[in-house]
Amino acid sequence: MTNEDHEALFESLLNGSLPDDEGRFGPFGGRYVPETLMPAIDRLTAGVHRYLPDAQFQQELQSELKSWVGRPTALTHAPRLSDRWGAEVWFKREDLAHTGAHKINNTIGQALLAKALGAQRIVAETGAGQHGVASAAACARVGLPCTVYMGEIDVARQAPNVDRMHRLGAEVVPVTSGDRTLRSAIDEAIRDWVSDPKGNYYLLGSAIGPHPYPYLVRELQAVIGREARTQLLERTGLPDAAFACVGGGSNAIGLFHGFLADRSTALFGVEAGGRGVELGQNSATLASGRPGVLHGTHTMLLYDDDGQIQETHSVSAGLDYPGVGPEHALLQLVGRVEYVTASDDEALAALDECCSLEGILPALESAHALAGAKQWAAANRGKRILVGMSGRGDKDMPILADYPVNRSKGSVDAAA
Ligand SMILES: *Cc1c(COP(=O)(O)O)cnc(C)c1O
Repeated sequence: MTNEDHEALFESLLNGSLPDDEGRFGPFGGRYVPETLMPAIDRLTAGVHRYLPDAQFQQELQSELKSWVGRPTALTHAPRLSDRWGAEVWFKREDLAHTGAHKINNTIGQALLAKALGAQRIVAETGAGQHGVASAAACARVGLPCTVYMGEIDVARQAPNVDRMHRLGAEVVPVTSGDRTLRSAIDEAIRDWVSDPKGNYYLLGSAIGPHPYPYLVRELQAVIGREARTQLLERTGLPDAAFACVGGGSNAIGLFHGFLADRSTALFGVEAGGRGVELGQNSATLASGRPGVLHGTHTMLLYDDDGQIQETHSVSAGLDYPGVGPEHALLQLVGRVEYVTASDDEALAALDECCSLEGILPALESAHALAGAKQWAAANRGKRILVGMSGRGDKDMPILADYPVNRSKGSVDAAA
């Protein structure tokens, strides 16, 4: 493809003609699903086109976002971090949203959609449990029963989130097949969904999967970037660069969308560099993956030379996914967004810095965005930088216990 082809694809994305009717974002996206799934997908697609633009639906959604989720979330200036980095740093505070992360924007939106579609029950899947918790909360709020599929291994290592889902009224089904983590949980949730496509609604947690999910989730998360842009213009001006962490890519696509047309704003997705560049040691799908099909969509993936999807690693469970949303694959292809990595160690260091300089404990996922921003700031002095603070880090305390703050090496405060 030539540069003109890339530019044309990007223009199509900007003017809303992508994704097309088949859900394609240029060469990526689509619906690679068995025939048995098509009735459910068609039903959902019709519902998305009917209800998302509907005034009454939007009014209900906006009201829930305001009074239940707590939107708009704050835009916070980070003065001490700014001094340290030689930049003007701002945080978009999704950590302040109900249940502690951006995920709730998507789950309340889809729960309302399920209700509008007349579904009787919601099925969801979860890996680390954050999407399960946000789904359980949203289902309780709209009054629909919720079944969450979760790999048996994840059930064991994320016990507090399992308890939280139970408290919020959800049924948690441990999945004992396949890899017994997120990938097999998704397979089980889909199996449940197709068994009754009318009565069931499948609430997918990121901007991944077959069309219309990547589009639907992006539309529900785009509130992040819309708010951030308005807030920045009120307080200072457009950023020179914006950073968001990328697992499946939902908080990042939500943040980026507000700024896609602002070409003066460089956009960076930060993936989990984990322990290193070797396959299996990271979760850097866009930085080191190859095109392929996973969970119904054509996108960038991590797989070996035999085509086997790779186990991934990241200190942050929410970034640990071997695929990525197809819209990100397109944004990388056309060059509008650059995808970089931050290692486990860099993310942990950025987390400590943010805690001690700004009094904010970010999620380990969000700490990757901070680490990416810090690297860029070091090479680009005096710039205005927006960082998507996708969630709060309280959930990560058990993991952080393995990484005590090293005061003797000089806390970031002492070094200031
Ligand atoms: C789940 C999660 C992520 C990763 O998901 P995306 O779909 O890539 O946004 C990032 N940050 C937090 C706090 C999360 O809970």
